[in-house]
Amino acid sequence: MRIVEIFTSKQGEGLWTGTESTFIRVGGCNLRCSFCDTRYASWEQTEGKDLAIEEIVGRVLLFGRNHVILTGGEPMLYTEMIPLTEQLEAMGHTITIETAGTLDSPVRCHLMSISPKLSNSTPKDADEHIIKRHEINRNRPEVVRQLIGRYNYQLKFVIDSINDIVEIELFISQFPEIIPDRVLLMPQGVTAEEILRNEPRIMEYCEKKGYVYCPRMQIIWYGNRRRT
Ligand code: SF4
Repeated sequence: MRIVEIFTSKQGEGLWTGTESTFIRVGGCNLRCSFCDTRYASWEQTEGKDLAIEEIVGRVLLFGRNHVILTGGEPMLYTEMIPLTEQLEAMGHTITIETAGTLDSPVRCHLMSISPKLSNSTPKDADEHIIKRHEINRNRPEVVRQLIGRYNYQLKFVIDSINDIVEIELFISQFPEIIPDRVLLMPQGVTAEEILRNEPRIMEYCEKKGYVYCPRMQIIWYGNRRRT
């Protein structure tokens, strides 16, 4: 499995924000989002090494954190995720998987952190066939339904502008089973100023709907830096 980096930090997003964690970042992604902040680990795929599961597990052990976050890129691309998550769980680790919710696989996971990609993710500067592939792959409600049915989950939506709310509500309306406090609205931004700019309106909307306002705390804590 292609691994770009393994490091420790605090989880900066979502229901388990603040949890000391070991992050395993895999390389490769089936999407190409306009706002992707891990291009080196997704479609540009400039970094990484193929590591055996034993080696990955060994590195996780060295860091000594209970909570392990599988992120990317798109972790669900790899069938090796099944034995990797089985081993991690057998060793007593708590596992979060961060995924765009376009691929399903019978992995072991204690929090499936799904970030469905809205039309604001569509790249404008890419070749036509790449834009088309992104559009075909990005919206897979049948996969999201499977994931939220099987796992403890959170649904994170990246908001560019408050107008994105209409599309989010349309998406959510396909899943009457979704619990409102599992819906997280996250302002787009790579600086604290950008993140905070939309804060009041998004917070107000979250309060009204019972959703959770979710700033990217790693940007606020550390700035836009890798391995955070
Ligand atoms: S799904 Fe995530 S890793 Fe893949 S291109 Fe989009 S933002 Fe980047």
